[in-house]
Amino acid sequence: MSNLEEKICIIGGGPAGLSAAMYLEQKGYHNYAVLERDDHVGGKCHSPHYNGRRYEMGAIMGVPSYYAVHDVEEFCGITHDGPKLNRNYKDRNGNVIEPFEPKKNILKIPRLMKMKSQMKKLAELLETKYKGYDINGHRGVSEGRYEGFAVTPGREPVSGENPNLKDLVLPFKQFCEMNGVELVQDIWIGPFTSFGYGYFDEIPAAYVLKYLDFQTTMNFVKINLWTWKEGTQYIWEQLNEHLMHQARLNSKITKVERKDGKVYVTVNGETEEFDKIIITAPLQYMPEYFDATPEEKELFSKIDYERYDVLAVETKPEDHPEISYYVFDNMTPDRYGHLMVYYRRWRDTKDQVITTYALRNHQNKPEIPYEECRATVLEDLKTLKNPASNVVYEKDWYYFPHVDSETYASGWYEKVEAMQGQLGTYYAGEVMSFGDMDETAEYSRELVERFF
Ligand SMILES: Cc1cc2nc3c(=O)[nH]c(=O)nc-3n(C[C@H](O)[C@H](O)[C@H](O)COP(=O)(O)OP(=O)(O)OC[C@H]3O[C@@H](n4cnc5c(N)ncnc54)[C@H](O)[C@@H]3O)c2cc1C
Repeated sequence: MSNLEEKICIIGGGPAGLSAAMYLEQKGYHNYAVLERDDHVGGKCHSPHYNGRRYEMGAIMGVPSYYAVHDVEEFCGITHDGPKLNRNYKDRNGNVIEPFEPKKNILKIPRLMKMKSQMKKLAELLETKYKGYDINGHRGVSEGRYEGFAVTPGREPVSGENPNLKDLVLPFKQFCEMNGVELVQDIWIGPFTSFGYGYFDEIPAAYVLKYLDFQTTMNFVKINLWTWKEGTQYIWEQLNEHLMHQARLNSKITKVERKDGKVYVTVNGETEEFDKIIITAPLQYMPEYFDATPEEKELFSKIDYERYDVLAVETKPEDHPEISYYVFDNMTPDRYGHLMVYYRRWRDTKDQVITTYALRNHQNKPEIPYEECRATVLEDLKTLKNPASNVVYEKDWYYFPHVDSETYASGWYEKVEAMQGQLGTYYAGEVMSFGDMDETAEYSRELVERFF
């Protein structure tokens, strides 16, 4: 039985926290507080202003199956009205290439044909052998089950047994090889590795395929994508404005204690009492300010994340790229720390910044220091014939929290899901599903649906 009077604390004013508030409100809960550490909402949806427009330092795009983001748009009366995305490709020396155009790659025709047939094969495998693979969240996967809600506008509840789903714990490269579809990685790598989600020899296939399910991947290939004129941050700023209770910015939480069926949160020096708490801030760091149980400490110490660096740079008009570029040569583990993609958001003017993206960690390799990676990226821009004249803003993000294959296989998600609700505590945010706007917002929707 729902108790709509319950006082609920939500930690974090990013997509996960704000959408949790929206879904709670839609269910009739009205006693909630969103505590945000920063002086703005949006988290990794961060769209600063420059020369009268907004550019993206964090999230950029969505696809038509972003149903939770669409819920938010409807709630606020906004839509995805941003500039159309487009891109070309360069090799690492700065030559424009067309890797998927058979006429320009006569020698590669057999490989391109083989890739096409492997795409078809994977589409069939995902529908049959891996039925249930694309459901939001990871409940049951390591035990060969699926449990959740269909990826449809109605999100009907679905569940079933499918032992093959256990294959999803393997790194994506290994998963592709065991299914005889290794060439599909050429397609998946663009929206995965260059978007900072790591390398296919280390990241479990579950993450890759839940985010890039077949349909979503096709939307990337066909550039059937959404953007927002005022930036992705605008979505969450608008949501925050439309909520009954706006996020409390600059909230410094120093202590959370759970006792006697209540949750006591010390924020900016004052202790407040709540009935329940939803954590959307990084779970890895929750033991630093929570009375974490040994199990919470143990499980959350297993979380790893990507070091994904973004620079916003100015160029001279003559050096401005005519379009965004992907550099596939730099998306392999041996080229970690190099520029993988750069984004020109505004095609009608050259007085805007472009943004660059690089990953500087790979399992079993030393992490590249921030300054070194930054210098490499600026050097790469010169080689790619679009040198920067100035860096106007930079960010090294705590990006895509996840667990490795071994931890995933050992039932990490089953253990965390079994803790949901204990001590009045609920876990949401990126690691519980995947590091994109929709998966995190959708996870919050399902959390509210399941427990409130
Ligand atoms: C460069 C980049 C590109 C991206 N591109 C895309 C894209 O194109 N499409 C897409 O869908 N997604 C994209 N993403 C991912 C997307 O932005 C995130 O997955 C999404 O923002 C996650 O939402 P969240 O609320 O779980 O976490 P976050 O966005 O990280 O928000 C967490 C919030 O919690 C706050 N917080 C943290 N600790 C505390 C604390 N102790 N107390 C109070 N508050 C705290 C933070 O300040 C933050 O506001 C991109 C991200 C980046 C960085």
